[in-house]
Amino acid sequence: MPTFGTVVWVAVGLLIGYVLWKSGIAVLRGLTSMPPEPPPAGELRKVNRRYRCDVCGVELKLTMAPDEDPPPPTHCLEDMTEVAPLYE
Ligand SMILES: [Zn+2]
Repeated sequence: MPTFGTVVWVAVGLLIGYVLWKSGIAVLRGLTSMPPEPPPAGELRKVNRRYRCDVCGVELKLTMAPDEDPPPPTHCLEDMTEVAPLYE
């Protein structure tokens, strides 16, 4: 027959476990809702866009983006301008 003290400690233990579990879920929720979250690899779209930096002239090709119309990358603290895509 468990004593009253034992019951109290078990209850306290369960309560602590419950609080930890809840706060753990809250932390996970906080982490997952934190922007920017990289999308899963399966959600990346294949794109074929070229951008040129007007400042230094560097050009780069974008082959993967999280959506079909990605914002232009930044280089030399300026937005890069899109080069007309070449349909080869
Ligand atoms: Zn540049």
